[in-house]
Amino acid sequence: MQELFDIAIIGSGPAGLSAALNAKIRNKKILLFGKKELSEKLYKAHTINNYLGFESISGQDLKDRFKKHIDSFGIEISNMFADTVYSMGEYFSISVKERIFDAKTVIAAVGMDFPKTIRGEREFLGKGVSYCATCDAMLFKNKKVAVIAYDKDDFNEALYLSEVGCEVYYIPMYSETPESSDRINIVTEKPLEISGNDFVSSLITDQRSIEVSGVFVLKQMKPVHDLIPGVETANGHIVVDRSMQTSIPGLFAAGDCTGKPYQYMKAAGEGLVASLSAVAYIDKINKSKV
Ligand SMILES: Cc1cc2nc3c(=O)[nH]c(=O)nc-3n(C[C@H](O)[C@H](O)[C@H](O)COP(=O)(O)OP(=O)(O)OC[C@H]3O[C@@H](n4cnc5c(N)ncnc54)[C@H](O)[C@@H]3O)c2cc1C
Repeated sequence: MQELFDIAIIGSGPAGLSAALNAKIRNKKILLFGKKELSEKLYKAHTINNYLGFESISGQDLKDRFKKHIDSFGIEISNMFADTVYSMGEYFSISVKERIFDAKTVIAAVGMDFPKTIRGEREFLGKGVSYCATCDAMLFKNKKVAVIAYDKDDFNEALYLSEVGCEVYYIPMYSETPESSDRINIVTEKPLEISGNDFVSSLITDQRSIEVSGVFVLKQMKPVHDLIPGVETANGHIVVDRSMQTSIPGLFAAGDCTGKPYQYMKAAGEGLVASLSAVAYIDKINKSKV
């Protein structure tokens, strides 16, 4: 039987880490999705002077403190990016590439880092635009595709697409020099528009138009509607009540993704509340089963 976690926490910023810590203290079995490097919004901050207990601390130092704290509780970050959260009624399934993880409750602590969409991206979503190479590669077998990549690890997705016979144009949107491979065309141009009629037919860059049947836009963050189908949002934020409960029972949210102010302490505080609410939710389900 598939392992059932008590709480799946999506996001490794202050909100997700605070939720994980408090769930662990409450003895819950957790699965923490996110990056080992935690959140770039932590280590990129030059100086922080509004985090209680630290008059002045660099983002890197605060990140190291957070890491030391979760390590001391034996909390592991899975280094996995959650693709979609499905509510299955009594539990949730979270897909990660071709794998599925199950949990009684979910805390979305995904931040607000969604990069700007490219013209045509939303219009052609599902009509040639995809956010997941592993999920949709076979639809583009032996075709020309473009990969717009926001993280260096996305290169592996481009390699996978070439393995299924795609001719791949790879556009790195990050600062590091991408790996090279004779199977991938690296394009250092700025993507401006995804264009076509009923389906995608080209990607227009600042220098030319590339004829493609598909465009994979690989972001380290998905729009909330794609990550959690059916969850209520307002102005791009997940709607929550004071217990951080969302419109889907058993699904909680915390941090920047629930709205302003975008601040570390607000994120950490909401992570705590979401965690305690998830614990109470699980206790209630368990009692109703007795
Ligand atoms: C340069 C800079 C300086 C700042 N300075 C300050 C300051 O001085 N004081 C202050 O209070 N605030 C400051 N902030 C704001 C602060 O960084 C944010 O409010 C805070 O990081 C929000 O925490 P969070 O956990 O909600 O989200 P984030 O820190 O954004 O963390 C979310 C994490 O979830 C991950 N994630 C997203 N989707 C998925 C998924 N599907 N699967 C797995 N992981 C996922 C992301 O990769 C990210 O690592 C600053 C921000 C920046 C950018």
